[in-house]
Amino acid sequence: MAQIIDGKSIAAKARSEVKAEVLKFISTGGPRPKLAVVLAGDDPASQVYVRNKERGCAEVGMASEVRRLPASTRQRDLIDIVRQLNADKGVHGILVQLPLPTGLNEREALDEVDPRKDVDGLHPLNMGKLLKGDDSGFVPCTPQGVIEIILSTGIDLAGKAAVVVGRSNLVGKPMALLLLQNNATVTICHSRTVNLGEVTKRADILVAAVGSPRIIHGEMIKQGAVVVDVGTNRVGDKLVGDVDFDSAEERAAFITPVPGGVGPMTIALLLRNTLKAAALLAAKKA
Ligand code: NAP
Repeated sequence: MAQIIDGKSIAAKARSEVKAEVLKFISTGGPRPKLAVVLAGDDPASQVYVRNKERGCAEVGMASEVRRLPASTRQRDLIDIVRQLNADKGVHGILVQLPLPTGLNEREALDEVDPRKDVDGLHPLNMGKLLKGDDSGFVPCTPQGVIEIILSTGIDLAGKAAVVVGRSNLVGKPMALLLLQNNATVTICHSRTVNLGEVTKRADILVAAVGSPRIIHGEMIKQGAVVVDVGTNRVGDKLVGDVDFDSAEERAAFITPVPGGVGPMTIALLLRNTLKAAALLAAKKA
């Protein structure tokens, strides 16, 4: 029976560390770090995520601002808002909440964010830095949180077979790069992968980031693996992961639950990235 990884308590510890660092930063003359979120449209899940981000900021002593835009917003108005936030010296981190409503160009909006304020790590400069192993940039929060969750088990990633299911810019690709940086031997699976279960069964570390309820089940998992479930899928009134928890729990050594696994860590890492942005911007001014 697997040990369940308590993402909530790992995240609570990470948030209290950020809180202490924010206090220290402000007491030594730094500005109060501020996160700005651009929220276009009325996607109910995005509304909840953004509220949690605002709450997270307040909890660690950071300021936040949400620019709410109607779904009918034109591309050039969205870009104008991002540019205003880039120019605003009181804003240190900018996050464009995804997905954007149909008709808005996601890539153009993300590319417009000042890379020094790109706390979601989705600007090409920051993605390039991650690829090169340059840690002066920003790394997407979810995969960064997953690495910390895996390391919390005490497992050394060096030489382990890691399989990432999903290849999005937000999760799968940066996840694979971070696992590689930690010296795992990495395989990336996607919708065209043939015999998915044959590949996942070889994984010592399995990260599922698909967005398909319970697509990974017990017989696709190696005995003793670490299984991290990034998926958050609404099925009826329940939130379920990409992993079928009950059958996976029988095979894995460690497993994250949904909810209460990866989600809370994503916000903790966003707060850490915002503090890093504020500190780097302040150091530049000094
Ligand atoms: P995404 O952009 O839709 O990417 C999904 C990936 O899964 C794609 O690469 C896709 O392959 C692959 N895929 C789809 N069907 C597959 C199949 N049958 N077999 C193997 N691979 C398949 O989604 P995302 O943004 O990466 O998010 C993934 C999940 O994580 C979602 O449930 C999302 O809600 C969740 N998420 C959670 C957090 C958190 O904080 N907990 C944060 C971000 C995302 P192709 O590239 O070939 O299409």
